[in-house]
Amino acid sequence: MKALLGGKGANLAEMVRIGLPVPPGFTITTEVCTYYYAHQLTYPKVLHAQVEAALERLETLTGKRFGDRQNPLLVSVRSGARESMPGMMDTILNLGLNDQTVEVLARRANNPRFAWDSYRRFIQMYGDVVMGVQAHGRDEHDPFEEILAKLKQEVGVEKDTDLTAGNLQELVRRYKSLIKRRVGREFPQDPRQQMWGAIGAVFGSWNNDRAIVYRRKYHIPHEWGTAVTVQAMVFGNLGNTSGTGVAFTRDPATGQKAFYGEYLLNAQGEDVVAGIRTPQPIAYLAREMPKAHAELERVRQTLERHFKDMQDFEFTIEDHKVYMLQTRNGKRTGLAAVRIAVELVEEKLIDWKTAVRRVPADSLSHMLAPVFDRKDRAEAEQAGRLLCKGLAAGPGAASGKVVFNAEDAVAWAQRGEPTLLVRIETTPEDLRGMIAAEGILTARGGVSSHAALVARQMGKVCICGAQEIHVDYTARLMRVKGRVVREGESLSIDGTSGEVFLGEVKTAPSEIVQVLVHKTLPAAKSPTYRQFAKLMAWADKLRRLKIRTNADQPDQAATAVAFGAEGIGLCRTEHMFFGGTRIDAVREMIIAETPEARQRALAKLLPYQREDFIGIFRQMKGLPVTIRTLDPPLHEFLPNDGEILRDLADKLQQPYEKIAARVAQLHEANPMLGHRGCRLGIVYPEITEMQVRAIFEAAARVRKDKVPVRPEIMIPLVGFPKELQLQLEIVRRVAQQVQAATKQKIAYTVGTMIEIPRAALVADEIAADAEFFSFGTNDLTQTVLGMSRDDSGSFLPCYLEHEIVKANPFASIDQTGVGQLMEMAIAKGRTTRPGLKIGICGEHGGDPASVEFCHRAGLDYVSCSPYRVPIARLAAAQAALKQQERS
Ligand code: PEP
Ligand code: MG
Repeated sequence: MKALLGGKGANLAEMVRIGLPVPPGFTITTEVCTYYYAHQLTYPKVLHAQVEAALERLETLTGKRFGDRQNPLLVSVRSGARESMPGMMDTILNLGLNDQTVEVLARRANNPRFAWDSYRRFIQMYGDVVMGVQAHGRDEHDPFEEILAKLKQEVGVEKDTDLTAGNLQELVRRYKSLIKRRVGREFPQDPRQQMWGAIGAVFGSWNNDRAIVYRRKYHIPHEWGTAVTVQAMVFGNLGNTSGTGVAFTRDPATGQKAFYGEYLLNAQGEDVVAGIRTPQPIAYLAREMPKAHAELERVRQTLERHFKDMQDFEFTIEDHKVYMLQTRNGKRTGLAAVRIAVELVEEKLIDWKTAVRRVPADSLSHMLAPVFDRKDRAEAEQAGRLLCKGLAAGPGAASGKVVFNAEDAVAWAQRGEPTLLVRIETTPEDLRGMIAAEGILTARGGVSSHAALVARQMGKVCICGAQEIHVDYTARLMRVKGRVVREGESLSIDGTSGEVFLGEVKTAPSEIVQVLVHKTLPAAKSPTYRQFAKLMAWADKLRRLKIRTNADQPDQAATAVAFGAEGIGLCRTEHMFFGGTRIDAVREMIIAETPEARQRALAKLLPYQREDFIGIFRQMKGLPVTIRTLDPPLHEFLPNDGEILRDLADKLQQPYEKIAARVAQLHEANPMLGHRGCRLGIVYPEITEMQVRAIFEAAARVRKDKVPVRPEIMIPLVGFPKELQLQLEIVRRVAQQVQAATKQKIAYTVGTMIEIPRAALVADEIAADAEFFSFGTNDLTQTVLGMSRDDSGSFLPCYLEHEIVKANPFASIDQTGVGQLMEMAIAKGRTTRPGLKIGICGEHGGDPASVEFCHRAGLDYVSCSPYRVPIARLAAAQAALKQQERS
């Protein structure tokens, strides 16, 4: 149903079926949209007649007719894709009004103000969406809103609702002349012409910029298309016995089981979601309109029982009677997603596997997001830096430099400057900027404004409706209680409390991090942690993939184990080379021109490396630890600064010129493809020897203390079997020597990374020597695609824009290209060595889509950064569930 009718159309039909009050209407399917785009923006021939027939039925059902002088039919024309894309496409309300029917409506409702208000809204929406009358530049405000503001100023009122029927009639006149001026055509009076214009505009809005950006971000296929629902209008702006609102069956920010939402009396739906007026919390409705509130409470329960998930619904109250305009599964924060899923299981509405399926794996990162450091926050408050409060719309804490438009947020982020995007109201045009900014702050609008929903889903920190803020786009500044904050100044916002601070406020870790990593909060005191742990336990029951971590230091390893890592999948030994005075020894080793000189330097490094490995082995207590031998190009460790070079020459007691010449000699034109990886250990076997010695001496030391150890030695950048054989010989020889010397028997394995296409192609030969494979998909992607992992930033955005790639291939595995090569390497490797253990340790190991691919491809484990371990656990469980469902 959803594929054909779109989410909105299908759920309206569903609500009719379960007896909820829905105004009559009809839906034009997504197939028409697909046809429209496939046939040069034309409709199927039958469409006209079918829409006319449906319209006739609607007229019969409502007893109203389009353009009728006695009882005119007014409709809304709404978009609705298969998956909801809040606010990204267009909607038109009050269609059917014209210079005549507005008078009829005024008479029938006995309320001229209402009629003229509806008409001016219609012209405004139609003018914007169908006729394209919009703000010209990024510093300009919406032209209709400008006219409205000017009129309010002229007549001396503050609120829209204070405008009289006469004022609104004047507003209609000004709106119409704005349209005439801008597009050279009159606003159309014929309702049928209006309707077809609106239908075309809704189909057209499927391909507007923000919808495309949204689809790309959420991987919604462009082929799906949108449906169009035409529905009889009900009016929330009939006076103070009417209203409109948006509600959630549970709190979308925290997941708490509480009726959550907001409404405006005497208003139409767009007022709430567009964030132009700041609405009332739904609880107030119990006082203002108890009957309607009770009916909504019934709706809330019916919806949850039927859809078995948190719903986000729109309603209108027309003269005390509640109508449902839409329902959909509500967007939620990661925090809320976990709580709702776990509580729905406890309430027996869903089973535990459904709970695991429901929580988007990536959204767990919201739960691990920082909050303000308490002390720093208190100090900021005492120092009078608490500027104001708004509505908490997206949890977490963020600091950044203020920018006032989306384009700047994008540009500044590209320069590496964290920003906070400050807007008067949140509109969907801001999407690009919202993606780029650390957080979003708006002066107007409620927690259910479009952009607030989107921010939450993205896990962005967001505050809405901070009414004390007055933004001046043109001057690029905001005023708050007499203070002026200009573009580029620092601001901090807490999207959980709604507080806005001047300057930077330090952030502190999430509750889960406090329980698991810092151990400063007891689990019993954190329901959030307990729910997280429950979900993780369910996930662990389902997953087949093991989860390891990429860690080079004991504290990183400890964090990862606390998050559930079952071993280290990649320990990059070179990361240990930078600390303290080691870098001097490393540089000495590199500069060395004879094996003896090199060995002298390596001897200095050995104790450091041994200590590092002891720390890691102790921490991992017998869990497998994959240690990779030296990988990066050596000159990465060399100074290019004259002064440091001079200092190095002094330390090594060698002439500056000689050192400088050696450094120049080591320079490579293309270091990523140069002297790195196992090529280092082959040309300088003494480096591998030192590292292997450090590993085994550390292992022996730790074993002596009765702590089990499981080292796995991994050779990087292998492309030829002989490369591995040469390194293997060193590993086996040194391991033998150390074991004999220490009288400790250490079980270990030796394997290789598969990160060069040639290694994948000859994986069967390599597997003769390798006891395990680990895909280095960072380098494999770089070499298969021929795209530098360090330089792709300059062209990848354009590639994404053109959909040459569906996702950044360095973040999510290019399954058809790189993935194909991986599948081949897996098959070949296991032909030679059945049961060959295979993992992945590139950045992709923490990406849910890549984890799913790794599950399907038959990998044994994925390895990712510590904070992504929970995400990988959940993604692995979801991959297993998906496979169960398929078979
Ligand atoms: C890889 O290439 O995927 C990998 C894990 O190694 P590195 O990122 O250190 O090159
Ligand atoms: Mg690599």
